[in-house]
This record gives sequence, C-alpha cells and structure tokens, in this order.
Amino acid sequence: MNNNRNINIDIKEKIKQSFPYNPYDIQLEFSSNLYESLDMKKLCIFESPTGTGKSLSLICGAFNWFKDNQENYDLIKKFKERRDKIQQGEANADSQKEESNSLPAWLNSINDINRSIFYEKIQIQKNKLAQKEKSLKEFQMFRKEKMKIRYEEFKKNITKQQMRTQLDKKGHDDEDEQYCVNWKEDQQTETEIDIESMIQDYKKSKMQIQKNNEQDESENENITIKIIYASRTHSQIKQFVQEILKTKFKDMRVITLGSRQNLCLKFDEQSKQSLPQIDDYCQKAIGINKSDKSIPRCEYFTNLKLLQNDIEYLLLQKIHTLDQMRSESLNSQVCPYYLSKRSVIDAEVICVPYVTLLDENMRISSNIDIANSIILFDESHNILESLSGINSIEVTYKSIFQAFVQLLTYYDKFCRRLNPKNALYIQNIKNLCLDLLKYIKAEIDLNASKKSDKDYVKINNIQLLLKLNMDRIDFFQIKKFTQETRLGQKIHFFSQSPKYVPSQIPPQVNKNLKDINTQELLKNSPYMVVENVINFLWKMQDSISKSEKYSIIVKNIIKIEESSIQLMCLDVIEPLYKIIEESACVVLAGGTMEPLSEFELLINQVGKNNFKHFSCGHIIDEENCSVFCVSTIANLSDKPLIFNYQNKKDDQLFQNSIDIMQQLAEIIPDGLVIFVQSYTFLDKLKNMLLQNSNQLQQIQQFKKIFMDDKDNSNNTILEKYQKEILKEKEIGSQKNGAILISVIGGRLSEGINFSDKLARCVVVFGMPYSNIKSAELIEKMNHYDSISKKNNFSFSGNDYYENLCMKSVNQAIGRSIRHKDDYSVILLIDQRFSQEKNINRLSSWIRKRVKPANSFENTKKNIQKFFVKKEQENI
Ligand code: SF4
Repeated sequence: MNNNRNINIDIKEKIKQSFPYNPYDIQLEFSSNLYESLDMKKLCIFESPTGTGKSLSLICGAFNWFKDNQENYDLIKKFKERRDKIQQGEANADSQKEESNSLPAWLNSINDINRSIFYEKIQIQKNKLAQKEKSLKEFQMFRKEKMKIRYEEFKKNITKQQMRTQLDKKGHDDEDEQYCVNWKEDQQTETEIDIESMIQDYKKSKMQIQKNNEQDESENENITIKIIYASRTHSQIKQFVQEILKTKFKDMRVITLGSRQNLCLKFDEQSKQSLPQIDDYCQKAIGINKSDKSIPRCEYFTNLKLLQNDIEYLLLQKIHTLDQMRSESLNSQVCPYYLSKRSVIDAEVICVPYVTLLDENMRISSNIDIANSIILFDESHNILESLSGINSIEVTYKSIFQAFVQLLTYYDKFCRRLNPKNALYIQNIKNLCLDLLKYIKAEIDLNASKKSDKDYVKINNIQLLLKLNMDRIDFFQIKKFTQETRLGQKIHFFSQSPKYVPSQIPPQVNKNLKDINTQELLKNSPYMVVENVINFLWKMQDSISKSEKYSIIVKNIIKIEESSIQLMCLDVIEPLYKIIEESACVVLAGGTMEPLSEFELLINQVGKNNFKHFSCGHIIDEENCSVFCVSTIANLSDKPLIFNYQNKKDDQLFQNSIDIMQQLAEIIPDGLVIFVQSYTFLDKLKNMLLQNSNQLQQIQQFKKIFMDDKDNSNNTILEKYQKEILKEKEIGSQKNGAILISVIGGRLSEGINFSDKLARCVVVFGMPYSNIKSAELIEKMNHYDSISKKNNFSFSGNDYYENLCMKSVNQAIGRSIRHKDDYSVILLIDQRFSQEKNINRLSSWIRKRVKPANSFENTKKNIQKFFVKKEQENI
C-alpha cells in the first residue's frame, strides 16, 4: 500500500475547500486517495478510526469525483478501457508523460493516448450537454402532456370505481371471492400497483426522449452515474445525511430509502405496529387485492397518483432525513414511502440500509440500478456476515406446520372454485410442507433413539430435494403461480379474517405429528408463513447447482417445537463480487477493516491491480490513549485471569472482576464503561454483586452502576447513564460519574458515541468468542477450511473464528475516542489478549499503543499516572 502517491495538487486543494472546516491531514489523505481510486479501481477498502471524521472524508472524496465526472463518465470509461489495454501490453506505451489539469489524474500516466481526440470528444460532449439541457425542457413538456392524459384516465377510473362500489353495496356480498386465485399459465402478469406502472412509464418516456435526442449519434453516451451510500442502521444514514448538509454538496439530489415502518403516514412511532403489520395494512390500503375493501383506500397514495407531476421533486429539492421526509410529505398529503422509491430515478445520491442494496429483490423493487454506480458501504467491517444473513433462510417447524394448516384450510374452502391446475399446485405446496414436517420429525426421532446430544444435523440439498419428492414436480411453475397470484399474501389475509376456521387435520397426518402439542403450534402467526416456506423451498431448489456454497441444517433437534431448518449461504464472496462487477466501483469503508485476510479471495478475484487499500492512523496524540493488557491480579506469578468456558463456574474469577471494578470506580474520573463477554457473564456478575451488598455499596459511593439487560428493549439505560455523568457534582460527595456494564456485541457496543466524560476508561472482561458448538459457526469454519485448501488461501476456519471475536472487541473499544482532544484508557482483561496473534488482530492505532501484559496492581499505578497528567494539562 502506498498512501502517499502524488495526487494532483489542484484536486487536493479542491477537496480541501469542500470540507466545512480545515480538515485533519488524515481526512485530506483519505478523500484524495478515494478520489483517485474511484478513477482507477474496482474495489477499495478504506479505513479510518471512529472519531476521525470518516463520513466527511467519504463525502468530500466521492462527491468531488462525482461532480467532476458526472457528465463525462462514458467518455472516461472508454479511455479507461484503453488504459487497461495499454497496461496489458496490447497497445504501444511509449509516448511522453504530460501534465494537464483539465484531464482526469489517471490520464496523465497514459502515454499513447491521442490527446487531440480526447479534446475533440470533450468538445462534442460539451455540445451534447447544451443539447441535453434543451431536451430536458422538452421532456418536462412531454411529461406534462402525458400527465394530463393520465389525469383524465384517472378521473374516469374513479367514476368507474364509484359505480362498482355502488353495485357492491347493492347485492354482491361474496367476501371470500377476494381470497380466491384463478391463474392461467399464459396469462399476462397483472400490474396491480399503479405507481409501479407509472414509474415504468416514466422510465420509458425518459429513455425515449433521450433516444430521440441522440439518434444521430453512433455512440451511446447516456450513462448516468449515481452514488449509493449504504450503512447498517438508519441512525448511521441520518448522520451521513446531516454531514452532507455541512458541505458545499448540499445542493445535490439526495434521497434516503426507508421501510414503511419509518415512513408510513398512517402510523407513527407510538403506534408500535410491527413491520409486517404495517406492510399488510398498506398492501390492503393501496388495493393490491382489489376486491378486499376491509381497509379504506389510502388517501396519501391516491394523492400521489393524482399529483405526481407537481410533487415530482418534493423530496429532491433539498436534502431530507427520514423524519423530515415524513413531515414534508405530510404537508403535501402524499405518501413518502412510494414517493421516495419514485425519487430514486432522478436522485444523484441514494442512501439505503445494507439489506436494501444487498438483497437483489429489494434492490430491484426499490428501483436501484447499480450499473455505473459508485457504492460506498460504510461500517462495513461485518459486510460478509450481513451478506450471509441476507442470502440464508430459516423456517421453524412451527411456521411450516402453520403453513400446512393454512393451505389445508384454504384448499378445503376454495377447491371447487379453483381451476384444476391451480388446485394441483396448492396441493403440491401443501404436500411439500407435510413432507418437510415428516422429515424434521424423523431426524429428531433418530437423534433421540441414538441418545445423541447433538443439537443439529446436516443434510445435502439434493438428498432433501429427493426426500421431499421435489424432483417429480415442476417447482419453477409453482413458484411462478405463487408469485403472479400472490398466493402467500392471499392465504395470509384469509387466515387473518374473522371467518377463518382451521380445518381438521386428517388422522393419517395426526399420526405423524403425534407427541406434538398442535394447539400450541396452531396459534395464529402474524407472519406470512406460506410465503416463507415457499421462499425456503425455492432457494433450496435454486441452491442445487451450487451445493458447495450452501449448507442445510436442521437445528434444535432436541425439542421439536423449537426446531427449524436453515439454508445457509456459505459463499458470501460470490454475491459481493457480482455487485462489484456490475457497479463502477465498490468502497468498503470502516473504522477498522483489519484483518483483511477474509477479503483475500475477493481481492484475488477482482485482481490486485483493481484493488486499493487505504488505512490511516488516529488523530489523537500518542499520550491521549493508553491500552493495557491485564493478565493477573497482583503479581504476574498469580493464577492468570482467563474467562473461558472451563472457568465459567469459578466464583473467584468473578470476585476478582468485582474487585477490579471497585478499584477502578475510585480512580477513574467520570464515565467507566465495562464490556463483558456474554449475558450469562453479566447475570452472574449481577447476582454476585447483589449478594455482596457491602461491596456494592462501596462501589456506589463513587459511581452509580447501570447494567444492560437482555430483555430491556428500551434504550433508557444509556440515557440514565449519560444524565448521571453529566449532572453536577454534589458538594462533599465522593461520587464522580457512573459505571455502565454492557455485553460486547450487544446493543451498546456498536454505533454509540462514548465521547469525553462518557468513557474515560473502557474495560473488556474476557474474550467474546462465539459458541464453538453452534451449527452455523461449525459449518462456516468447515467452509473456510475447505476453500483455503482448494485455493491455496491462507484464511482458515480458525482465522474466521478468531476474527469474529477480535472484530467485536475492536468495535467496542473504538467507541471511547471520538475527536482530537478526547482521551481515554483501555483495559483488556484476560491473559489471552496479550498473545501475539490477538494483539495483531487489534486495530492498528490501538495495537501500537498496547502496553505489555501486566498485573492489575501495576496497571492501576499507570492509570493513576495517566489521569494525574491529564488533570495537570487541564488546569
Ligand atoms: S401508501 Fe404510504 S401512507 Fe398509505 S398506507 Fe401505504 S405506506 Fe402508508
């Protein structure tokens, strides 16, 4: 890696000017390197520790590049192809190097490009831009005309609908009709959501206009580029959007995509409805099921259809957070959820949660086209895990049983009204559910008969396909049938209707399900169980051709009610590589991305020439952060502190932890944040503290204790902790701040800002290794072992396991230093932390501050010195 390449000075200056303040050197380096890499590379891994202004660095690097290249992208792409050829030796590379500020940086290193052709093309491009401006105006006119026609049509439809409603009122009362399907194989798919057809229309008309304008040109130069910013949570996306507003890029067209839960105007936060409930409501309210009139049509949706032309730029005229999108849309009485999907087409920057981008179906339904886009994945240290989750699917025994009963009931009710083929398809799905139930039950019985304590079994996808007799049916056609009829949704709505009475389970089926509390299983599910099972079967069949990339496991086979079957995606490189190939460039950004070994295969696939790694240090001074590994209590010859599985019942170890906590409470000013390795550890610590009320009292003399709680879903603990730290010190009281005890990898260990007083010391008790016996972990480790053998790849299953642990440690301890003048002490308490392999897995800026392993007693003296010095500096 060479971070210090000579980047065009003018570009660097321009980037510097785009920051809202004088950037730190590392920010400028980050942005300049990013700018340059977007020209040259396909995959970039960029690291900048938390608290170093990474979002602004991303914005100033990527947005400047976007502004400079937006119009000439296609032209540049062609020159890039030429450059690649040159690099491969297919062209003669012996011309001279020239400096030219008007050309992209990479161009300067190319020797044999005919500059005059380039300038000529630039001139043509400029003419085209003028032409484009003209055609945009024509396009607006065209759309206005089109909208007028559409409005007339809409009015006619409203009248027709009113007449139909009258008729409905007069006599027709077959409510069940709404649930019945009637599908012919050759029928055209009915486009039921008008808004989607309008989007398609809009795209077509836009393309038509562009085609008309440029029909005389042989080259297609209409490629438009977008920046897609993806992060894990909405609060991270909100922060990014707020950072854009601080820069000169606040005039760009930026849209954030959220779920109906974030945006639906029919529900607010207080309504506490789950996402499936809101989705269900909306689908009825926009008339997906046209004959279902149980919910009145949503006026915001209707208004959107009516006003589309007038509110086209409502969400793009300035930059909004999701909350602002809601209120802006409420003022205009239009649905922000559908309007934002529509706005994607005209946006320059799209901000989305990971799942919307990584899941191909969600991406398509959100109108996101990644071709020619620059994709910035932020907080991407766990991107491979996210991909694994998105590409895997799990169905519980309970939901398969419910799907079976719903299909049975549906079939009994509607079989006479269904055409024979439709009836057969429903029978087929029902039988598949039953076969799946029988298969899981057989595995559980077999396991019990062997008296095995194994928690899961693995099955090959071809074996499962044969067991379910899926080779004898045309599941592709069944999938098409269920998609086009929206069978899963219809059955779900049917099962939720007051008239729904589950059919009797046939005796021969009951025999198979004996010993099972069917009443418990029958409790109605708010989820679309039929849809889930169909998706599972579809993915399972789809995985046949790439069986080594997936694994199927039956989990929790000790207790049938808790069992489930899971299709796990093991090869997460392939879906990510597909995205990289399709897009212009993918940037994986994070506080710490190391160790990079898990990306080794991906980097090989992309090609080392197309890959860039940039990493920068921290902005804080060396003496603002000290990291101590603690391996014993008083002397290095003492029994070592090791919080592993074997020691989990060692009360003395927990007592040592409490003693350390007590001593730290006395010497650490303000906030002390403690991370423990699991909720089991936390519960034990809590119980011991409660039993030893004396010691608890002594600790609370100095600091009030706040503990995370697995079941506590509200976030009040953090708020209370912050309040306690920031409140004024009582005269004469020894109390100074508070202690927050939380679980690593839990709600409080990632994405929370513990700046300044909120964390003057962060402690980690024990190494947070995942459960080595978990089925998923074993399968993934085996997968990495096998691909590393096959590809001569150095990343083994054990590396994956070790990385998981140290990545969560890095995330937790990185929370405490948030800006240049912040300071904090970090304590890693477990003898294993001081092993070289673990030190090497720490973020580089932490690694270089780690002090050699010591006893707590000696470490305490160093901590005291650290804070005395800080106190003197602050006077
Ligand atoms: S159309 Fe929009 S506002 Fe209406 S129910 Fe659906 S998401 Fe909510």
